[in-house]
Amino acid sequence: MKYALVTGGSRGLGRAICYKLAEMGIPVIINYQSNKEAAEQVCEEICNNGGSASIMQFNVGNEEEVTTALDAWEREHPEDYIAYLVNNAGIRRDNLMFMMPTDDWHAVINTSLNGFYYVTKHLLPKMMMRKRGGRIVNMTSLSGLKGMAGQTNYSAAKAAIIGATKSLAQEAAARSVTVNAVAPGFIETDMTKDLPQDELKNLVPMKRFGKPEEVAALVGFLCSDEASYITGEVISINGGLL
Ligand code: NAP
Repeated sequence: MKYALVTGGSRGLGRAICYKLAEMGIPVIINYQSNKEAAEQVCEEICNNGGSASIMQFNVGNEEEVTTALDAWEREHPEDYIAYLVNNAGIRRDNLMFMMPTDDWHAVINTSLNGFYYVTKHLLPKMMMRKRGGRIVNMTSLSGLKGMAGQTNYSAAKAAIIGATKSLAQEAAARSVTVNAVAPGFIETDMTKDLPQDELKNLVPMKRFGKPEEVAALVGFLCSDEASYITGEVISINGGLL
């Protein structure tokens, strides 16, 4: 059985991606860090709609936690493997760089970039060597493509994810593992709820924030059979905001 693991699947984009992949008939593992109730709700909703889901707690930025949780899953599922990995977990700690606390620099890089490394590295051997197939989708951001004042930490982490996506895509292509990145602009989630949406939406040619389901549709496509020849790409989804 081929499973999907969505990091940060308890809320926002990750939750919508879990729903989408479950709708596509893929059993989904919903990772979360601290909001167990939200993860359980996603799990319940998927199961109530006839899908298959389970939850898995770990902090993506803690290699030991990642390893312990994934090792335990693999022991319980000797015949199965995680064929779809969506590296979605991420945080913001915005500040102008000259005022940025060092902890905020490290926290953002650790979650987005090191988190991507710890989880992906753990799952790659099975995808590449044993099963010879898989899909990896990394959540980057418009901020990683063009930079954003107040987000040097976040932009650095997200730009690094783009570089890693392109390199890993080249390493994994011959084993039929695709690696792509999705770069959303402003999407309505908890992460953006403190932003002045009425003001910012005027910067977007479509004059609105995106919806998590719109991003989930793109991730679903990248995980589908139809996307088997797409790899190393960064696909923007931002209502025309350049
Ligand atoms: P969100 O609503 O704040 O949700 C964040 C999710 O990540 C939650 O499920 C949270 O789990 C999880 N998470 C955070 N730190 C984690 C950690 N260390 N280990 C495991 N899980 C962790 O954020 P979002 O807007 O959905 O963003 C999802 C991704 O899209 C992020 O990578 C973000 O940078 C990116 N993105 C978002 C936007 C946007 O406009 N929203 C735009 C561009 C890119 P808990 O529930 O347990 O806290």
